[in-house]
Amino acid sequence: MLRLIFALLFSLNLPAQSGNYQIIIHGGAGNGLKAENYSEAQIAAFHHSLRRAISIGDSALQKGTAAIEVVSLVIQQLENDSLFNAGKGAVLTYEGLASLDASIMDGNSGNAGAVAGLSCIKNPITAALAVLNNSPHVLLSGAGADSFSLQNGLTQVDPSYFITQRMKGIHESIKGHQGALDSIRDYKMGTVGCVVRDRLGNIAAGTSTGGMMNKRYGRIGDSPIIGAGTFASNATVGISCTGHGEYFIRHAVAYQISARYEFQGLSSQEAADTLLHEVLKPGAGDGGVIGIDKEGNFIISFNTAGMLRAFQQEGEAVQSYIFGELEK
Ligand code: ASP
Repeated sequence: MLRLIFALLFSLNLPAQSGNYQIIIHGGAGNGLKAENYSEAQIAAFHHSLRRAISIGDSALQKGTAAIEVVSLVIQQLENDSLFNAGKGAVLTYEGLASLDASIMDGNSGNAGAVAGLSCIKNPITAALAVLNNSPHVLLSGAGADSFSLQNGLTQVDPSYFITQRMKGIHESIKGHQGALDSIRDYKMGTVGCVVRDRLGNIAAGTSTGGMMNKRYGRIGDSPIIGAGTFASNATVGISCTGHGEYFIRHAVAYQISARYEFQGLSSQEAADTLLHEVLKPGAGDGGVIGIDKEGNFIISFNTAGMLRAFQQEGEAVQSYIFGELEK
């Protein structure tokens, strides 16, 4: 009988029940993330935000919600939280507007969806998921991405919704500066990401960001680029990146971690460390990654002073970290 069930699952291309779920999130990496730069209240607020997002994911996973849906739910929470550089509270462009990027990938089907340069959809990750579910495309941008999202019934907001007083003040203070600025180093604001492996062994990953402060000319970073900022495959890993996007695109960081794990015989952690510390180097590709591999191992690697991060294994306590603490 058992053999019959497994044969049936196999023929449906569904993974058999494979145990406990795992969830991991990040809220950006950067060299400004040092304890001496923060008050106790700010540190407590970061931990609170990270843990609240994990608990939303944990409750959904307990109910059996699929990994891809959980990634979207958790990232929506982080987008609504103005502590992070995603959704409300995002950094601003040269022109003083929020221009939002997001991507999501389903490691079970191999499908992916992404959006770049959104200006009026409340939760960009829901737009990325709509591209995955309801379009033949992978990446939509600008006005077209906004109108596709509206046609799909996603919540619309006035572009001013995303602009916080804090970001307005920072933008005012750098008026006249020409280049894009590293949001975390200079402003301690972080991109967000989430990777989930559900009880069926399905892995999903997503990333959402406002990109780099003062970006111009429609600049797009790695976050909405599948294979660079986000990647997921049930056969290998789910990965979400944060950092200086141009370098993460050039090195296809998220996919390269998967490929090195699959083909080089490295552990998933070794594969990530190789990317962050040997391929990318501090000063030429600052950033970090989180992930989960097909065995349910967490992956955490960064070449910056810190990375906001939290993770939970089913039935165990949540762990959250900000600076360079060794937790593994
Ligand atoms: N990777 C993002 C970008 O380059 C920024 C970040 O993660 O802080 O747009």
